[in-house]
Amino acid sequence: MGLNTKELIRKYGIKLTKSLGQNFLTDYNIVSRIVDTAEITKDDMVIEIGPGIGSMTVELASRAGRVAAVEIDKNLIPALEENLREFSNVEIINRDIMKVSVKDITYSKQNMKLKVVANLPYYITTPIIMKLLEEEDNDIELMVFMVQKEVAQRMVAKPGGKDYGALSVAVQYYAQPEKVFDVPPHCFIPQPEVDSTVVKLKRNVIPPVILKDKDMFFKVVKAAFGQRRKTLLNALSNYTALNKTKEEVREILNAVNIDENVRGETLSIEQFAILSNEFFEKDI
Ligand code: SAM
Repeated sequence: MGLNTKELIRKYGIKLTKSLGQNFLTDYNIVSRIVDTAEITKDDMVIEIGPGIGSMTVELASRAGRVAAVEIDKNLIPALEENLREFSNVEIINRDIMKVSVKDITYSKQNMKLKVVANLPYYITTPIIMKLLEEEDNDIELMVFMVQKEVAQRMVAKPGGKDYGALSVAVQYYAQPEKVFDVPPHCFIPQPEVDSTVVKLKRNVIPPVILKDKDMFFKVVKAAFGQRRKTLLNALSNYTALNKTKEEVREILNAVNIDENVRGETLSIEQFAILSNEFFEKDI
């Protein structure tokens, strides 16, 4: 066990940067429960996003076959290296996760299973999750993230409620999300202003719906949620990227038996799939 988070911060005179979402975990019980959730074994390679000074990396390194820890802030690297010096299975990568592909990080993976574990920086939570899910050629099987409680609620939301939106549909298209446990602000330094939740995303091997065109699916989803208070007919016909008149949208909705007066937020993923497949058919 290396130095603890508070000792390392003091020793290296580290100034935490709020704009980089630096809220470090100080509660080792929480660290251990996050790593338990990912069911890490020596057969796993783990990417950790934002290791900070390694509060969770130490635990990951002692359980996994390999760890690639991607940290944007070069000021944290000396403390991170000291905290991890007894481990030979960790590679520290001083990069922005948004600018590096998973394939490049995992060149040494061989036939290990790939998992991602992270206490995510909250300013960029959704872009990071979407990047990992959308990247065509990565073979991540499981992701365990600490996110803002509200984001977790949106990821798992079902049609009809206020939390259900484009993020719910996108995450549930690519994975099976599950809320695991909540984490209060006092488990971090500095304490964040929001409650946090640990979520587990098991990547879908087979997509839950068959799409004729993925871009069209996400365009329709974006259109439907872009103007949530409008009827589906209005939201879709006002969305210029779909390039359809009100009459054309009406025809498409009729063809797939969806009421033009409902709001987008009532549509299930299956209905979005059927609808976007019809839009695609009408486009070619
Ligand atoms: N894992 C540590 C812990 O649990 O105590 C730190 C988590 S802290 C919430 C988020 C970390 O992500 C910070 O260390 C921050 O510097 C890093 N970070 C922020 N943006 C990043 C990015 N784009 N790429 C990689 N790391 C990033």
